[in-house]
Amino acid sequence: MSKKVLILKGDYIGPEIVDEAVKVLKKVDQKFSLGIELEEGLLGGAAYDEVGEPCPEKTLEQGRQSDAILMGSVGGPKWDEVDRDLRPEKGLLKLRSGLELFGNLRPAILYPQLADASSLKPEIVAGLNILIVRELTGGIYFGEPRGIRVLENGEREGYNTYKYCESEIRRIGKVAFEAAMVRDKRVCSVDKANVLEATILWREIMEEVAKDYPEVTLSHMYVDNAAMQLVRAPKQFDVVVTGNMFGDILSDAAAMLTGSIGMLPSASLDKDGKGLYEPCHGSAPDIAGQGVANPLATILSVAMMLRYSLDAPEAADAIEVAVSKVLDMGLRTPDIYTEGTRKVGTSEMGDAVVQCFM
Ligand code: NAD
Repeated sequence: MSKKVLILKGDYIGPEIVDEAVKVLKKVDQKFSLGIELEEGLLGGAAYDEVGEPCPEKTLEQGRQSDAILMGSVGGPKWDEVDRDLRPEKGLLKLRSGLELFGNLRPAILYPQLADASSLKPEIVAGLNILIVRELTGGIYFGEPRGIRVLENGEREGYNTYKYCESEIRRIGKVAFEAAMVRDKRVCSVDKANVLEATILWREIMEEVAKDYPEVTLSHMYVDNAAMQLVRAPKQFDVVVTGNMFGDILSDAAAMLTGSIGMLPSASLDKDGKGLYEPCHGSAPDIAGQGVANPLATILSVAMMLRYSLDAPEAADAIEVAVSKVLDMGLRTPDIYTEGTRKVGTSEMGDAVVQCFM
């Protein structure tokens, strides 16, 4: 049965890196006879320029009809003066909420070949492989009521609401435990249950979800300790599951442990496993058009897509092995270049990954 993948190239380096990822996707499609059909759509600044809005209804519909979406990255200074609601980044938020992509998966993997790129000591991070599962459509970023109000004494007060209902916690918990089942079978749930009632409930529901996964070990950690442990001994973690705000912060910290944002993929999943796959980095306007952007995060996003949405784990493994081989060969885009390795551009890197499947 054929599988539909929607391609959203996005802005600045988006098209450059997505073109390389598509080369790799076509290669695995052919090698593993996956029957993948590709379709292109518009998102972000590219969509605004073409049709006057950053996430047109047509793109949402294309997303609904697809099994998975591969995206570059959106935004950049070209649209700084555009009305807030029409900015490229708003388009991405609309796509995520329109398709109910509530489960954000962000692996922080440090290939041993790049251990020197981290700001932490190589022995602390070499071989690091953490998966952060962040709830993406609830919590304090979306909770109502919110706003800035004037108090009786005339002083202004800003306020937000941190809330999660049981079903929201349960569905993100399931995503984390399912992911742990194909990894090291350990989930650490991060909360602030010593202070926040919403996370007391979070902890309770995680315990309930754990009962359905007897093979997986569940632990709990307060978010302040988790931040400390991430930089002290990050290899202690396998899957970390947490709410929207804590996940936002911890996943960026985890990404930086690897020292190379150009290497990190991500996925945002709905309840049926349909997903939006994109690199963790932005549209890098400073290097766009120079052919130097690192395409590996986007290529590794294709691997995640094959594993989580397209049921093709062997093809996913093959891509990850090919990326590792390319690094073994000493090929590096400028962002991960160190002395003694060979500097290559965006398309040479993509071609090298494709060659590794031969
Ligand atoms: P950025 O991630 O685009 O760039 C930060 C730094 O990392 C820059 O020096 C850039 O050159 C470098 N970098 C990023 N990706 C790289 C790659 N693949 N290869 C080599 N170097 C790379 O972050 P920013 O500068 O804060 O944001 C630029 C634009 O991207 C903004 O408009 C922002 O809103 C947008 N953005 C979009 C997404 C997304 O589409 N999901 C995510 C983050 C930022």
